[in-house]
Amino acid sequence: MPFNTIIGHHRPIQWLQTAVRTHHLGHAYLFHGEPAIGKRQTAQALTQLLHCEMPQSDSAPDACGTCRSCHQVEQTIHPDCLIIQPEDGQKQNPKIKIDQIREIEHLVIYRPLIGSHKICLIDEAETMTIEAANALLKTLEDPPDHCLFLLISSRPEHLLPTIRSRCIALRFSPLPVGDVFEFLKKHSSMESSDARLVATFSEGRLGQALHLDPEELKVNLRQYWALLFEEHSDSAAHVFAISESLVKSHQVPEAIHWFQQGLRDLLLLSLEETNSPTLYCDQEPTLRHLAKRIRPSDILELIKELHQLERDQQRNLNMQIGLEQFFFHLHDQLEYAHAHE
Ligand SMILES: [Zn+2]
Repeated sequence: MPFNTIIGHHRPIQWLQTAVRTHHLGHAYLFHGEPAIGKRQTAQALTQLLHCEMPQSDSAPDACGTCRSCHQVEQTIHPDCLIIQPEDGQKQNPKIKIDQIREIEHLVIYRPLIGSHKICLIDEAETMTIEAANALLKTLEDPPDHCLFLLISSRPEHLLPTIRSRCIALRFSPLPVGDVFEFLKKHSSMESSDARLVATFSEGRLGQALHLDPEELKVNLRQYWALLFEEHSDSAAHVFAISESLVKSHQVPEAIHWFQQGLRDLLLLSLEETNSPTLYCDQEPTLRHLAKRIRPSDILELIKELHQLERDQQRNLNMQIGLEQFFFHLHDQLEYAHAHE
């Protein structure tokens, strides 16, 4: 996938193309930004360009995408490229181990066979164990001339500062939701309303949008809408039951995401911000009704509570209590709203 097939990310791509054209490419880059927005795709496009047998060498150099080298990069079998990522089967607690980083030593011994560089791509770089990170640091402190390291991370704050400081950091941002919507309309068979739902839910992460099933999303939309705005009562037993069921079914991260989106919709309507698409657009009359009765500052407090829950989840803290508190505060607000109708 050469640069010209990537949607968005014009700034980092232009930066890389200029660095290649003017022979200013560094030894190590850190591509950071939210998951599934095109970081790895851009790293692969750069890898293709540096190995391409027939590159386009105008002001915006790019790989041809069709030569043998380009195919090898695409299939991740190029002899001058090493891809390191957490091993399969580690979905809950992914880790890159020191043995994987030691493979770099074999990669860098010889000069490249085809292109100008030996390239080492480290995806989810923040998952390196401390031993792995220290081993990488040794190589980054004195990188061989013909080597290029591309680190990819959606949580760069979890990388060792000493590694971050040896990389040129390029930030990747999500695309505007409207661009993802237009792309889906053009390149998928989705109905317009489904494409809008998928684009809005993805929050501009095209890589995620391409894998979302609109039918599944609609089922979740109904389920989480009900949990967020319908099934409220002052029964503590009910809150305990919902929270327990979300924890036991491992649905907490998903639930937090849906709740955040629902409250974000409510906040947008409460602030009369009409240019941003709402996810729960089918429920807009109810949302508008609520938005007039809950103060934006109170909605923000609830959103903050969800952010805190997200952080607690990453630190493996007890989710049950946090969720219960969130529901109690949410129901307080909803009851206040209904009492003032
Ligand atoms: Zn090529």
